[in-house]
Parts: sequence; C-alpha cells; structure tokens
Amino acid sequence: MSDLVSSIRERYLHTLDKIAIAARSVGREPESVKLVVVTKTQPIEVVKAAIDAGVLFLGENYAEEGVMKLQSLREFSAVEWHMIGHVQSRKAQLVAENFNFLHSLDGLKLAKRLDRFCGEANRSLPVLLEFNVGGEDSKSGWSASDESNWYTLLDELAEITALPNLKVHGLMTMPPLGQTAELSRPYFQKLRGLQKYLAVKFPQVDFGELSMGTSTDYEIAVQEGATLVRVGTAIVGSRQYKTEA
Ligand SMILES: *Cc1c(COP(=O)(O)O)cnc(C)c1O
Repeated sequence: MSDLVSSIRERYLHTLDKIAIAARSVGREPESVKLVVVTKTQPIEVVKAAIDAGVLFLGENYAEEGVMKLQSLREFSAVEWHMIGHVQSRKAQLVAENFNFLHSLDGLKLAKRLDRFCGEANRSLPVLLEFNVGGEDSKSGWSASDESNWYTLLDELAEITALPNLKVHGLMTMPPLGQTAELSRPYFQKLRGLQKYLAVKFPQVDFGELSMGTSTDYEIAVQEGATLVRVGTAIVGSRQYKTEA
C-alpha cells in the first residue's frame, strides 16, 4: 500500500470510528450512517487512492470535474459518485447522465431539467432536497430558516416529488460556518424538524435520508440524525485550489 493510500485509509477508518461512537451515544446503529468522502479539487491520484483505501462513496462539487474523474475511474464500479454542489442549469445533463446520487437539488426549474435529461438517458436519479436553514443569502437551497413559512414550500415540492425520473430520498443542508461544531446543532435539528413536517405532508414520499455534517461537525450531525455525512479535509487533506485558467 502506498503512503498516500495508507494515510487516507487511516483517517477514513478513524472517521468511521468516530461516527460509530457518535451514533451509539444516541442509540443509533453505526451502519445507519454513510460516509461520503469529498474529493473536490483533489487530483485524480488522490481520488484513486481513496478508492484503494476502501472508500465507497465519493462526493464532488463541480459537475465537469466530477464527471472527468468518474469517467476515468469507471472500472471501480463498486464506488458511488455523489454530486453535492450547486448544479448550474447548463450542467444538468452532465449530472443527470453520470452521477449516482444528487444531494443538492435546490430548485424546481433545475428539477424539471434533470428529470427531462434522465428520461432521455433512460435512467432515474436519487435526489435530496437542499434547504438553507441558516438564513444566509450566500447559501443555496430553499429558504427554510423560518418554520412559519414552511407551508410556502409545499407547492413546489409537490411538483418535484411527482417528477417521474427523480426519486426524492430526503433532505440536505450546509449550516453557517461556526466557531465550534456545537453551533451547528440547532441547524441540524431544524432540518430534522423539516423532515418530520414534510413526511406528514407527503406520506407517499421517502424523506428518510438526512445529508448533514462536514469535517468540523459530522459527529454532532450524526447525533442529530444524519444518515449521510460529507467529509473532505479530515480524510483527504486540504484542498488544492487551482488558479483560474
Ligand atoms: C466541501 C464540502 C464538504 C466537505 O467539507 P470539509 O470541510 O472538507 O469536510 C461537504 N459538503 C459540501 C456541500 C461541500 O461543498
């Protein structure tokens, strides 16, 4: 095993351990949480090393970068590729045709485009609905910080859950960046509250998955019910931002 593979493997297993401890601390099964390793901006060698280290779920933020990686690593068919970043309208086809899972569905127009491209490609795409529970202008997702306005989401969400080629599986959020992990807890609780609300409003839809928690706060997220955590730097190290070409 190369040094890169063994160091990623060590941090991956350590993260799984911490997830298991957090899950058991609230009476949950560790197996109820999937660890998505976020490799955005990381070179292909790092992604390959993560696969060799045993990672099963990879998360990418940028459609073209992610598709380039998944196409060149296609032979490792056991790996699932998750799109976790905002999808621009003109990237909808790339995402619809290539990814296994979308965490960040954030609008009706995008949903309709994805549904159309999925239909043309004869596939169906599992999706999560992204909510902005912290009220920051900079964040994508349906605005959901004010519970008294949750009912205003229902018409659009009804249309989305009726699309034939998108399969809604739950909710996702990215809380405001706080000084400590504990500051994320109320946002995770709010997403779980919204999950309960939507499950009552749409009893025929599966809202079981909650994608929340990153390197800094995934243990808190697991305590609050996360079924998918998205961890990048804690496992694959700091990001490699390229200068714009
Ligand atoms: C980058 C990113 C992550 C991972 O963040 P880390 O701090 O590296 O763990 C998780 N979710 C989303 C949406 C991201 O963009």
